Amino acid sequence: MSAEQYDVIIVGGGNAALCAALSAREAGARVALMERGSRKERGGNSAFAGALLRFVYDSPQEVLELVPDLSAEEIANTDFGTYTEARFFDDIYRVTQYRANPDLAEVLIKGSRDAVRWLRKQGVRFVPLYGKHAPNINGKFKFSSGSTLGAAGSGRGLVDTLYVAAERAGIDIHYKARVQRLLNDDDGVHGVEVRIDGKTRDVASSAVVLACGGFQANVEWRTRYLGFGWDLAKVRGTRFNTGDGIRMALDIGAQPYGNWSSAHAVGCDLNAPAHGDISVGDVYMKHSYPYSIMVNSEGRRFLDEGADFRSYTYAKYGKVILAQPGQFAWQVFDAQVATLLRETYRVKQVTRVCADTLDALADKMVGVDKEQFLKTVAQYNAAVVDSVPFDPAIKDGRGTKGLQIPKSNWANSISKPPFEAYAVTCGITFTFGGLKVSTNAEIVDSDDQPIPGLYGAGELVAGIFYFNYPGGSGLTNGTVFGRISGNNAAKWATRA
Ligand SMILES: Cc1cc2nc3c(=O)[nH]c(=O)nc-3n(C[C@H](O)[C@H](O)[C@H](O)COP(=O)(O)OP(=O)(O)OC[C@H]3O[C@@H](n4cnc5c(N)ncnc54)[C@H](O)[C@@H]3O)c2cc1C
Repeated sequence: MSAEQYDVIIVGGGNAALCAALSAREAGARVALMERGSRKERGGNSAFAGALLRFVYDSPQEVLELVPDLSAEEIANTDFGTYTEARFFDDIYRVTQYRANPDLAEVLIKGSRDAVRWLRKQGVRFVPLYGKHAPNINGKFKFSSGSTLGAAGSGRGLVDTLYVAAERAGIDIHYKARVQRLLNDDDGVHGVEVRIDGKTRDVASSAVVLACGGFQANVEWRTRYLGFGWDLAKVRGTRFNTGDGIRMALDIGAQPYGNWSSAHAVGCDLNAPAHGDISVGDVYMKHSYPYSIMVNSEGRRFLDEGADFRSYTYAKYGKVILAQPGQFAWQVFDAQVATLLRETYRVKQVTRVCADTLDALADKMVGVDKEQFLKTVAQYNAAVVDSVPFDPAIKDGRGTKGLQIPKSNWANSISKPPFEAYAVTCGITFTFGGLKVSTNAEIVDSDDQPIPGLYGAGELVAGIFYFNYPGGSGLTNGTVFGRISGNNAAKWATRA
């Protein structure tokens, strides 16, 4: 075997790619990983992630096994609850409006528990995401929506740990290696054409795993497939996910699949950079909106801020913000909920205005119709059903009555100064359209036949997420399908 020939080439350098590479290596294959970013910029969207991983557990004990270093006091003060397979299924089907491919969703859900255990074996440490996902109710933290553990050190920590494991396992890692084309013939895929450090060459392999992300950072494809206005969205994560893997596979007959006209997109700071900056991380997201009212430039509310827990609405609300005049909105809070705001509201890179009166606040909310805004707040305040107690730990049903656009939970009047408002626009996370894979992670062609030697994992695998997404499923999805793809690619490559 020449130095330039591998059993398996993994295209990409984020979580899905690393899980695929480690699994292929575990199965005995000689593996190369090709990452478009430099060593400093490695890790794709995975490096930007808050690194919540959604997974199934039937008892708090299962969580404790993953976080063995919690103190007795922390254990006593935490209610981890459970997150069953049935709930994960319900969550996926509900938020995707029952479009999720049931076979692929089943693989994700049933593989989720093992996925986090396997990550732990690779050296990844987990922590309960107290501040973000478990409100402290009377001294006890309560997890209630499947958003329980995250990787220590967030996405950066996760990715760095997996790179250490990959180096230790003897995987050849190439940085600044942009794969451009799959080498194929009638027998399938035999390697890649890659540009490494500005020089293009062919590298042979018996199998290839594509794990190089969606097309969210490709402004032209965004506009082409997601539609009008999407050229203006901010890219929350890496600038490298420009749909190369999807294009390369389509070029050799792979089947386009899933929700090409939709994406995971959130409310992020109006003045966030055009794409993510790994040196500051994900400080731009503005996810405390369930405690706000959101108004557009006309001074009107345009969505139900409290429709559900944040994890079940945040990924679809970016699209709604993009559809507002001028593609922006303001999230408005008062002092009653100020302590509930996430830390990303307290960073220096923030578009915030504060005032002691609503009138003065409105003057500072650039681009908003003041008269209508004050009317909106007055109508909203009058509609809050304050006989129901406010409880951020549950869907408290403290809503509004009689408004055309209700707020269904966590409704408090905007009445206690000081008032704060945050300007947001649409931040795209990843696209939902991509390639079709079998439950063995084989990329299939338009006749539903596996393309020999070609596997896929991560964002570019489509068919599970439509319209929306339950928070924390992306990393789990990449881990589950990364493991399957790496393992099967190795078996294919080393078959007798
Ligand atoms: C700000 C932010 C926060 C998030 N928080 C969470 C969270 O808490 N929990 C969660 O589950 N998900 C989260 N996500 C989503 C999650 O990060 C992704 O779904 C997941 O990381 C995707 O993994 P991946 O390996 O498919 O893609 P990526 O991690 O993006 O990796 C793709 C890799 O492919 C490389 N690449 C691209 N083109 C080429 C090419 N031609 N040749 C070689 N390499 C190429 C890129 O450089 C990159 O390294 C978040 C995303 C963002 C942006």
